[in-house]
Amino acid sequence: TGASNLYPTADLRARDAAHHFHPFTDTGALNREGVRVITSAEGVWLTDSDGNRYLDGMAGLWCCQVGHGRGEIVDAVEKQMRELDYYNTFFKTSHPPVIALSERLAQLSPPQFNRVFFTSSGSEANDTVFRMVRTYWDLMGKPEKKTIIGRWNGYHGSTLAGTSLGGMTGMHAQGDLPVPGVHHIPQPYWFGEGGEMSPDEFGLWAARELERAIDVLGEGKVAAFIAEPIQGAGGVIIPPDSYWPEVARICRDRDILLVADEVICGFGRLGSWFGSQHYGIEPDLMPIAKGLSSGYLPIGGVMIADRVAEAFIDKGGEFYHGYTYSGHPACCAAALANLDIMVRERLVERVADDIGPYLQQRWKALGDHPLVGEARMVGLVGALELVPAKGDRSRKFAPVGEVGTLCRDISFGNGLVMRAVRDSMIISPPLVLTHEEADELVARAARTLDETY
Ligand code: PLP
Repeated sequence: TGASNLYPTADLRARDAAHHFHPFTDTGALNREGVRVITSAEGVWLTDSDGNRYLDGMAGLWCCQVGHGRGEIVDAVEKQMRELDYYNTFFKTSHPPVIALSERLAQLSPPQFNRVFFTSSGSEANDTVFRMVRTYWDLMGKPEKKTIIGRWNGYHGSTLAGTSLGGMTGMHAQGDLPVPGVHHIPQPYWFGEGGEMSPDEFGLWAARELERAIDVLGEGKVAAFIAEPIQGAGGVIIPPDSYWPEVARICRDRDILLVADEVICGFGRLGSWFGSQHYGIEPDLMPIAKGLSSGYLPIGGVMIADRVAEAFIDKGGEFYHGYTYSGHPACCAAALANLDIMVRERLVERVADDIGPYLQQRWKALGDHPLVGEARMVGLVGALELVPAKGDRSRKFAPVGEVGTLCRDISFGNGLVMRAVRDSMIISPPLVLTHEEADELVARAARTLDETY
């Protein structure tokens, strides 16, 4: 094909193997197998260096809400870079795009949020959270409140704070983490860990693990609880309905800050602007990234509720924290253009009322397949839980872990990008997915299950 002439795959693979050390990759294994090189993208479709096309069932890495190749975002970035390529937001300076984006986010988010601190990524957002919650309690005259509670199998990024707040034991083992002052409680993963309890009983139990942890650690020592509304990287763990209201009650009653990590669930993924709105909770801090710019340029941030922001403003002095690229003008321009598209095309409403229910119905029907123990989805994020036998929730689809990987490889062969997390196959497609593309996605996933079986 023309594409393979333009991009000779063997040459690209050799150069990648020689010089590129990949994130979250077994580089030795990759170099033996050869890397897949993606060369272009349009809408929900990716093209590789051999000219193969794939339906991007993961929206890049859970981020490309508006689909690929939107010239409007490119134009906005170009215009911004010609006008002001870069200036910082430290030391009492600002610029129009960061002001416009701050205002826009205050308008789009729940009423308690009127301010945002910018970062380049979700990991940096969670590093910001880490220092911000401890500094908040210092300012409030309660410097003993330092411990942050997260959840096993949660994901909050891969910097020191992100890895520590997250509950991925494999990540903890590399680098001797978590840092001191972080505690983890069980995840609300009914399918894998709910045992004989009903989902709602288990949801309440998992929420009350927070209260038990606070009792053990001491209420005066706990600063915050951090969690994703739905765990993404951990395997699209959808909590039972009983979970979040009880967690919110505990945070309120025990005077600890509630941090909803909206890096995946924000920006329409669950059919609301933020995942915490889907669950009816009112967090104090919301780390954001990914869908904020649909991944066109790197930008993240922390939405700060008035209660927290006002402590800094009224009692503060300087918060010694920031990144050279906090509020980068071009990234802000990309985010603004992305949000314009989302509002104009009513993408959030579309997930709630149209493509969300449409895909959910078809996805959940895959639950009838002999390989699938549970087919779950909220908004446009879902998982197929592969099982050794119907009704078996042991998560032992032998050999452990490999089935998911095999299934993913077959899925690539069928022209569909899904992600494998243990024995779950995951999708999180762009919010612009059409009905025809949704049918195609489900047909390809079904074919993959048949071939894996
Ligand atoms: N928080 C959550 C919930 C995430 O899913 C991720 C990334 O997947 C992060 C934080 C880290 O974001 P980044 O990869 O932009 O640093």
